[in-house]
Amino acid sequence: MNKKIVFFKSVSFDLTSTESFALKVLSDPKYDAFPNYIEKEKIQEAFDLYGYKLNPFNSDIYAAIMNSPNIEGHFLSENIPEIDTMVVDQIVNKRLATQILDKNDDITTIALSSYAMGMENTIDLIKYFQKHFSDKELLVGGIGVLYPHIKNLVLIEDLCYGNGVNWLRTKLNLPRYSHEDYRIPLITSNMEHFPGNLNTAYLVSQIGCPFQCDFCITNKFLDYNPVGRFYKIINFIDNIRASFKDDTFLFICDPNAFYPESLWKRIFDYYVKTYAKYDNIVYIICLASLKHVNSFNLKKIQRSSALKLFLVNFGLESTLKKGYIKNKGVNRSHIERLKECGIIAYHNFILGLPHHTKDNISKEISNNLEFESTFYSINTLKPLPTTDLYIYLKNNKLLFGEDLPSELLYRDGFFPFFHKKLGKGFSALKYAFKAYFECEKKVIDVYMNFIDTLKNIPDSKSFQFVEDMADSFLKLSSYNFKLFKPRMVRNLTDKYLERYHRLNKIFK
Ligand code: SF4
Repeated sequence: MNKKIVFFKSVSFDLTSTESFALKVLSDPKYDAFPNYIEKEKIQEAFDLYGYKLNPFNSDIYAAIMNSPNIEGHFLSENIPEIDTMVVDQIVNKRLATQILDKNDDITTIALSSYAMGMENTIDLIKYFQKHFSDKELLVGGIGVLYPHIKNLVLIEDLCYGNGVNWLRTKLNLPRYSHEDYRIPLITSNMEHFPGNLNTAYLVSQIGCPFQCDFCITNKFLDYNPVGRFYKIINFIDNIRASFKDDTFLFICDPNAFYPESLWKRIFDYYVKTYAKYDNIVYIICLASLKHVNSFNLKKIQRSSALKLFLVNFGLESTLKKGYIKNKGVNRSHIERLKECGIIAYHNFILGLPHHTKDNISKEISNNLEFESTFYSINTLKPLPTTDLYIYLKNNKLLFGEDLPSELLYRDGFFPFFHKKLGKGFSALKYAFKAYFECEKKVIDVYMNFIDTLKNIPDSKSFQFVEDMADSFLKLSSYNFKLFKPRMVRNLTDKYLERYHRLNKIFK
């Protein structure tokens, strides 16, 4: 019988906000069985301090924006062209999986991507497949397989660690791929939650990352392997231009985009040289190191390239101690430069690193906010197996045990370990809430920040795009004001309105 593989993903980004999840734990008696890990009074304390001050709107919207197609599934499927495959983009639950498997009874193999977040869904699915579809081979890959919760459920030979392409090819008795052989799938979707409703294409041009940050799984899980080649990427971008005709988003899925640098400089040069022949612009959304992005001629790219940057998500991580090599020499001017060129600067930082204390954590928050990025994402430390920080916590017997409910392994506002200075478990929640609140006071309204940044794109070909974005963002901004006003002091609400009227005048 011929093989047919279906690629499912369990969950990648959770749609529940930190606040909603903490409230769920607070009211659910099931968590009372874990007093060593879960101190409900810490949840209550955080809500008493900040609960009524938080904006419940943004976190859900961000989560929805981040919910992308089944990138891993498409990438793997494209790189086993000899095998019949099917890729399911939606997050799969038992009902959807059953419908698909019942309708396609020629499927022989289920390939499931698992993540640290939402592991409870993955575990549930694995058990369900084993019970109800035991005639099918079950392969599980992704970061989730590093956790005993999943490791203990699946045969070791059916667990894929790291880069799945050659693992899968070997398993299927196919010749291994060299760097040159990798194929880049054309993955597309519509960012329905994002204003402008633009089509989006997803590009995988690189596996792994050349850096070694101590909290990050990328370099432990995946060997650095830039699979993109100049003509492959140009063909990819030209294909999406031809398919969509209009402006398009290009989501670069690489954990740290634009490596190798020389390759991407060539690509941008190409789109500067050929600028006149294109009417539609491709706008990049990516994760990248701030200093690295600044090494490109951003002004020129934003002014006269048919491939521009829309949003750069970078991790500043910590401003205290010596920081991370990827950020060596980074300062505020790097962020200012992005914004001046019309690029949204999306800034991440971490609370709960080993050097954080009750005294310096406020400093960490305020230092990061002083960078005046367009918007922020605040993470509490969630140690991932095999990372240096995880090993440090494990060696010092600070990690919570394997009996910790899996839904708590990867949650903002929860330390799944004992932090020597900040406490354990939901002690993290009040720091997360404080950061969310301070962040909102600084940013005031993320949508207007987007508009204020995007209007700096120095290219008349982008005018319509910016106007459409501004129109949608101003509507969101007007809605957001209803949530902002009851929680904020007068001078901030005045600032909000002043900006809103100014932008309305420009764009209406
Ligand atoms: S630069 Fe980013 S992707 Fe690379 S190791 Fe550091 S955090 Fe991970």
